[in-house]
Amino acid sequence: MDGGICRVKLAGGVITAQQARAVADVAQRYANGVIEATNRSNLQIRGVGTEHAALIEPLLAAGLGPANAASDDVRNLMLSPTAGIDPYQTIDTWPLARQILASLESTPRFAELSAKFAVQLDGAEALAMLEHHHDLWLSAFVCNGQTLLAFGLAGCPAHDAPLGAVPLAHGHELVMAVLTLFLDVARPEQTRMRHLLKDLSAADFVEQLALRMPVPIAPLTDWRRDQTVLQSPIGTYPQRERGRVHVGAALVLGRLDAAMLNGLAQLASEYGNGTLRFTPWQSVLLPDVRAEDAALLTQRLHALGLLCEAQDPLAHLIACTGSSACAKGLADTKADARHLATLLSQPQTIHLTGCQRACAAAHVAPVTLLAVAPGHYDLYLRAPEHAGFGVLRERNLTIEAAGAWLEARQRSNTDD
Ligand code: SF4
Repeated sequence: MDGGICRVKLAGGVITAQQARAVADVAQRYANGVIEATNRSNLQIRGVGTEHAALIEPLLAAGLGPANAASDDVRNLMLSPTAGIDPYQTIDTWPLARQILASLESTPRFAELSAKFAVQLDGAEALAMLEHHHDLWLSAFVCNGQTLLAFGLAGCPAHDAPLGAVPLAHGHELVMAVLTLFLDVARPEQTRMRHLLKDLSAADFVEQLALRMPVPIAPLTDWRRDQTVLQSPIGTYPQRERGRVHVGAALVLGRLDAAMLNGLAQLASEYGNGTLRFTPWQSVLLPDVRAEDAALLTQRLHALGLLCEAQDPLAHLIACTGSSACAKGLADTKADARHLATLLSQPQTIHLTGCQRACAAAHVAPVTLLAVAPGHYDLYLRAPEHAGFGVLRERNLTIEAAGAWLEARQRSNTDD
């Protein structure tokens, strides 16, 4: 409905100020200027017109493309936005991440993986998205003085027990072995790990995997990812390096325009290290800021139109493109989300979706509003025992009615 989309994959969510300016420039020249931050820490340019080559060339020249064209789709490796700078991290995941990304790009066979096949590498940072499902997830921890990588398949470290662990030094081999085993045993229609695990148990997969590893896979019975110090992606937090902080701010419903992206590039150069890190919360983080500059930087981010208060209800709403630019959308989800935010007194994570496809959310939100007609939604509450969006609690609510219902529920939860 509104032209094409150009996806710009960012390794670990990182983009330099110069690359950000290139994205802003082509979005303005060859598209409608709308840029979205995705829940996989990438960017996408919306409303792309007919001049595809003119749009793509500056992006490739800025180093935003893959090493070879066939490998673009498989560069799906999620890191924490604070990888390498987080005071809580067990490891700096970047060295292993670079190894994995290089192998993904240089191994022709990995081009057979689905464009959605995704790996997560968690270094035990305080800022970590642990709920998005990945085909393979790895999480670092220390046991008896040895750094190990726990791993799981078709799930996430927040909710799933690991299947085993290997020493960190064998992390790259583990990832390569999982990917090649998957390609060896999955049928063509089984494009994701969860499809394969319907036929082959996870235990059987691990048994076969063990035959391909040079070290034993240690069983893990009690280990679970520590979630006691998880941070908000919005706000100012100290880095490992004394006197340095990172400053995070949310994009309103995941969107920015060329002027905002240019402004962010300018602020990254002025206050930070000349890079921006996009996050799976559809927010952005500026690393390596001097602690004494954080307040002024936050003001300037606010002036650019970013949400800098973790308590701002709008910062916690997720909305898909909706009927304003998607033919499948039954309601204008983005406009309705803005309206809903004005009716909420406290933050609640709520996902407004124009149809069942739920493009905007990578995992089920605590509250989902599913459009049934313009301005009308069914309301679901997440429940682990229910598949899909959870339990259907109300039907055909207007935004005002949904706001009142959510406020009343919030009050009763607080009163309890
Ligand atoms: S969830 Fe449905 S309405 Fe929303 S962008 Fe995706 S396909 Fe379109």
